[in-house]
Amino acid sequence: MPNLSENVTRLSPSATFEMAARSAALSASGIDVVNLSVGEPDFNTPDHIKEAARKAIEENYSKYSPVVGYASLREAVCAKLLRENGLVYEPSEILISGGAKQSVCNAVMSLAGPGDEVIIPAPYWVSYPQMVNLAGGTPVFIPTSIAGGFRITPESLEAAITPKTKLLILCSPCNPTGAVYSKQELEALAQVVLRHEGLYVLSDEIYEHICYVDGPFSIAACPGMRERTIVVNGVSKAYAMTGWRIGFMAAPRWIVSACGLLQGQYTSGPCSVSQKAAEAAWNGPQECVESMRESFRRRRNLMVRLLRGIPGLVVNEPEGAFYIFPDCSSYSAKVPDLAMYLLEQAHVATVNGRAFGAPGHLRLSYATSEDRIEEAAGRIKSALKLL
Ligand code: PMP
Ligand code: GLU
Repeated sequence: MPNLSENVTRLSPSATFEMAARSAALSASGIDVVNLSVGEPDFNTPDHIKEAARKAIEENYSKYSPVVGYASLREAVCAKLLRENGLVYEPSEILISGGAKQSVCNAVMSLAGPGDEVIIPAPYWVSYPQMVNLAGGTPVFIPTSIAGGFRITPESLEAAITPKTKLLILCSPCNPTGAVYSKQELEALAQVVLRHEGLYVLSDEIYEHICYVDGPFSIAACPGMRERTIVVNGVSKAYAMTGWRIGFMAAPRWIVSACGLLQGQYTSGPCSVSQKAAEAAWNGPQECVESMRESFRRRRNLMVRLLRGIPGLVVNEPEGAFYIFPDCSSYSAKVPDLAMYLLEQAHVATVNGRAFGAPGHLRLSYATSEDRIEEAAGRIKSALKLL
């Protein structure tokens, strides 16, 4: 493809969406595939949110919204941040975007250019390094392991910082490991960040409500960190709204303004109807969030128990999100690609840990029914026995 720009030729496809597409293609050919690949709640969007969207259509919310999003939605986000996170923001410090993915990309593009380094704890969500590459920056990885709870430490952070470091991307609860940083751990990391002028933290909190331990806590709430943090969140996971495409950033005004500039030239404000639906999600009853979390907790417990019954797997107990990230290296060494092997042999779709910077691991999403989880575990066990 000699005519494509360097920007695009540097990119690789999203491994999560790629595996989901393979799984869908196999299902379309009539095969019963258990899809544990892409991470999205299997629940439907709650009725009161759908009703708000219908009303928005009736009331002709069909024009461009302001680039930064409707004022009423930015106010709803401020109320959410105060109520749930104890964070005080003005609507002018909020930017609504087409999903948390766009919010992350806006932040990376506006802060990290050529010559800048961005620290990414590994394993990481597949899109972070790709976005940094797109911005022309350099990703710098801090490895973590199952033994260390998949968390970076103040020492490992300090060691990774150079005069070129611009941004640290933290994701808690973490995709793909499910690790959750405690308040004390975040305070200790914040101490390191505050020692380095010009270093910012992108706090990806999209799995905030899918958390089985105390918290999660936002690093923006640590003393001195509000001015150094870009909080990113959205409705996709908490309200089962992946297709509606609404996310936000809350950040110091100069960062929000820069990102608004970028968004104004790239995409404009996000979908008008989806914004009204998101407003209903944040302003409305919150019981739906809790009931989905409890389902995820039961599924996590089931999946951890079943996978621990498979010899040779080292299975972490995730504290949040809806992924398990076992070390499968005793099997992965025996085939070129363990995820492909399981898809072809067991008709179970997972994602190879390589895409998350952790070869030898597999990511399995348990955002599916308990029946399907049992079916998947049985099939995986039989397929691995053959290796
Ligand atoms: N961050 C992480 C860690 C994610 O797993 C996802 C999943 N889609 C996103 C951001 C983006 O979410 P969305 O764009 O659907 O709001
Ligand atoms: N975040 C989800 C996942 O990791 C959705 C896919 C994506 O955005 O890459 O599977």
